[in-house]
Amino acid sequence: MRVFLHEMTHPEVSRKAEEGAVVIIPLGSMEQHGVHLPLGTDFLIALEISRRVAEKTRSIVAPVLWVGFSKEHMAFKGTITLESETLTMVLRDVIRSLASHGFRKIIVVNAHGGNDAPVRSSVLDANLNSDADVLYVGPDELSSFLPQRLKHELEKSMDLHAGVLETSIINLVRPDLVRRSQPSKPKVKIGKHVLDVLDLAKDKPALRASILSSVLARFDELSDNGALTLSDPLSHWDASETEEALEEVAGKLAKIVEKWKLTGKAEGLKP
Ligand SMILES: [Zn+2]
Repeated sequence: MRVFLHEMTHPEVSRKAEEGAVVIIPLGSMEQHGVHLPLGTDFLIALEISRRVAEKTRSIVAPVLWVGFSKEHMAFKGTITLESETLTMVLRDVIRSLASHGFRKIIVVNAHGGNDAPVRSSVLDANLNSDADVLYVGPDELSSFLPQRLKHELEKSMDLHAGVLETSIINLVRPDLVRRSQPSKPKVKIGKHVLDVLDLAKDKPALRASILSSVLARFDELSDNGALTLSDPLSHWDASETEEALEEVAGKLAKIVEKWKLTGKAEGLKP
């Protein structure tokens, strides 16, 4: 089954629109991921999850948006960032194009936390001003689908950037891109007050994310090599465990997509 938009012809796309297919837009970034992972880590992850969900739901995967809002990483070489307004507008125009071809259900799968705010604003705009229903699935939503045990392990080690989670996924999908001989353990410079306030918000992931984004303004001030985790980022899960975790995330999301497909603006809140 063909799932990638860039591999289809226009009559094939037209048939998919008539069938009511969902289009998934994977969104990543081009930003530093420590000394052991490539700059394209987030777009590889967004693409992988989108493909798995599309195969389970007969959806289409639009070309990955490889650049996002990554200003917090600009002190490290190779990072490319859009202004948040540019990202909002690019995504808005991509969604409008797809909606104008008759697609009524569009999902944005975003693997980079920094894209969160600009993307939510494009999605709101599209839901208010187009005929399409747009669902946003960001990093917090994605990790909420992880098996409980792994989620707990990541939370305990503050695995935030280029850590065990991302290394495990890249190790599965592009093992050739993990630099295993690199000393990857970062010197993390998170102050005691930040750790204290995070502890108070222990069971509240959304609040923890807000607190973190209020202090994660510049990664070079938080970590010497760009990674942000208290574990050794190279100590990834083995491939079969990562495969299972990815399948669980994609499977749970696919289930939601199948139900969500049946909803519609006109239906509203009718019982
Ligand atoms: Zn990342």
